[in-house]
Amino acid sequence: MSLTNIPLAGVIGSPIVQSRSPQVHGHWLKTYGIRGHYIPMNVAPDDLENVIRTLPRMGFVGVNVTLPHKEAVMQIADLVTDRAILIGASNTLIFRKDGKIHADNTDGYGFLENLKTGAPGWQPKAGPAAVLGAGGAARAVIASLLDAGVPEVRLSNRTRVRAEKLRSDFGSRVRIYDWVQAGNMIDDAALLVNTTSLGMMGKGELRVPLDGLGPQTIVTDLVYAPLKTRLLETAEQIGCVTVDGLGMLLHQAVPGFERWFGQRPVVDRATRAAALR
Ligand code: NAP
Repeated sequence: MSLTNIPLAGVIGSPIVQSRSPQVHGHWLKTYGIRGHYIPMNVAPDDLENVIRTLPRMGFVGVNVTLPHKEAVMQIADLVTDRAILIGASNTLIFRKDGKIHADNTDGYGFLENLKTGAPGWQPKAGPAAVLGAGGAARAVIASLLDAGVPEVRLSNRTRVRAEKLRSDFGSRVRIYDWVQAGNMIDDAALLVNTTSLGMMGKGELRVPLDGLGPQTIVTDLVYAPLKTRLLETAEQIGCVTVDGLGMLLHQAVPGFERWFGQRPVVDRATRAAALR
């Protein structure tokens, strides 16, 4: 059905207007002079399988996947990477030339790259990481932290049973704290990560007590709207190195772009500016 050899990629979700991926990939296509297109597509859950099976025949080389399809696409894919299985979700599909659909998850990669870039002094083995939240993003963050060699992940979530599920999936290096005692897990942590949606524009504020937070702890927030959350603001005042969440969004896009368009893109200031436009 494809009429040209121009590669097409895009992002599927519902809703899709909030996605910044089209700006990011569009910026890279332009920067590297690649003849390709990246298209946002609103796809209802009932249409998901049909759409995914049709896209390769229309010239698509792959797509990013966002809510609510990140789990469902794994049932449709022919090959799913180990890390996507471990995380339980996929955000990147590659439509291979042999007709097979390959599902991967690059969120953990994006998280770690952002952390390493924003806090080059961070050493995974330096000490425990304290993680707030146990949703989909937390799974990717925890998988990547454990993989990087963090000795202990302290985990706290409002709904404790969700944290317990992560402990049973990821093993004994994950230690659970009650949500009302989340402040206690911050003392002597080398890293503090907010993976809850608290602090995001239009959501509530994160109210975990930060009395135990000292300047030796690196603090990062997955929330990127606003860029400087109250957590990051407080941490900065204490003297902590802080890393905002926008870089994770940009870095997680790198592997997909490289696979689809054959060029490894660089995440730089111009990429950040493009995402914020
Ligand atoms: P999710 O699966 O819906 O999980 C939401 C998390 O926030 C859960 O842990 C939930 O706790 C917690 N939460 C929500 N409202 C709360 C409240 N009032 N009090 C306490 N905890 C609350 O969402 P997700 O996909 O993990 O995403 C989480 C955040 O990360 C979002 O803000 C998302 O935009 C951001 N994110 C950023 C990137 C990036 O590239 N920077 C990537 C992925 C996600 P319960 O389990 O108790 O409900």
